[in-house]
Amino acid sequence: MALRIGVPAETAAGERRVALVPDVVKRLTQQGMSVRVERGAGAGAFITDAEYEAAGAQIVTREEAWASDLVVHVQPPSEEEIALLRSGSVYIGFLSPLDRPEVVEKLARQGVTALAMELVPRISRAQKMDALSAMAAVAGYKAVLIAANLLPKFFPLLTTAAGTVRPASVLVLGAGVAGLQAIATARRLGARVSAYDIRDAVKEEVQSLGATFLELPFEVPDAQDVSGYAKALAEEKQRQQAQLLVPHIGRSDVVISTAQVPGRRAPVLITEEAVAAMQPGTVIIDLAAPSGGNCVLTRPGETVVHNGVQIVGPLNLPAEMPVHASQMYARTLLAMIQEFATPEGFKPDFEDEIFKGACVTYNGEVVNERVRALLAA
Ligand code: NAD
Repeated sequence: MALRIGVPAETAAGERRVALVPDVVKRLTQQGMSVRVERGAGAGAFITDAEYEAAGAQIVTREEAWASDLVVHVQPPSEEEIALLRSGSVYIGFLSPLDRPEVVEKLARQGVTALAMELVPRISRAQKMDALSAMAAVAGYKAVLIAANLLPKFFPLLTTAAGTVRPASVLVLGAGVAGLQAIATARRLGARVSAYDIRDAVKEEVQSLGATFLELPFEVPDAQDVSGYAKALAEEKQRQQAQLLVPHIGRSDVVISTAQVPGRRAPVLITEEAVAAMQPGTVIIDLAAPSGGNCVLTRPGETVVHNGVQIVGPLNLPAEMPVHASQMYARTLLAMIQEFATPEGFKPDFEDEIFKGACVTYNGEVVNERVRALLAA
């Protein structure tokens, strides 16, 4: 029997994405795989059951979708959902494995082979499977739109009969994937953009997008690890860094902060003093809110107003752009499925760097060292 791929609906609050879109379903069914989509799974992303059927999928119940050979999902499964997975089946999705190791442990106990999309290594062969980057780009774009909407000012320079309006100044903290997309979006809206990152390696990318790279009199010789991520700073260095940023933040109309260090609390870059230096009406969009926030005043999932400064701590911006976010996510899943599955079945390959990196459970065991260490702690 052909490999059965299940697409259960998302049940996490506010989640509107769906793991596979009809275009991707069609590619999989044409390759001889069978795709089973839970009734209504695409509704949040404006995809009807009829569209999935036209692409070759079968519409099934929630239980049937979860009981497939290979289950693809966006959000980590709940305990109840894990219980619906068959022993010996494969699960691919975001798992927040370093924040929620207990979910990984439960998947192992259920006998499920699980692959965490967050752990796909960032090597060039895996670029098409890089779901984190795809979602970060959506978040960076959306963050700027939210800021533009909240700011009681124009973004662009305007020369009108009623006078000249100066462009807004946008400061982007952390110029990774989300930050670079935020820079590009804010530039397109006509703002004056500057950006700062601990990794000097991004300076040219920032400049090529038309932004100014902020150089602080602050040396971090080995800020980047082998996989291109930033390393955590010692506490004293972090304090020094936040202090140096105060005047730059104070001059900004909008601050989009995206600085993260995988598996750690987000670094504090925006202190209370920095917020106090900003004008009333200005905006901070803290994309690091899910990992504690770059601003000390951020409340994850909420918008707080402090002395007139609006501080937004969104937890899931990709869910607010479900059409393209689902399309992009589905493409990364398609690449994973094509790499490790055939219509005959799923082929675990621990010799493969991508498989080894992403696989967190196998044969009833947690196989990722970092997750194991967290569970043992
Ligand atoms: P991320 O979300 O982990 O962090 C966002 C940014 O915050 C990073 O640029 C990081 O340097 C920065 N940051 C962390 N601590 C900071 C601090 N104290 N002060 C200022 N900035 C700080 O990162 P990301 O966007 O997921 O990716 C980071 C990098 O990984 C990319 O820029 C790229 O070099 C690399 N990458 C490679 C691939 C690939 O080769 N396939 C794909 C995506 C990303």
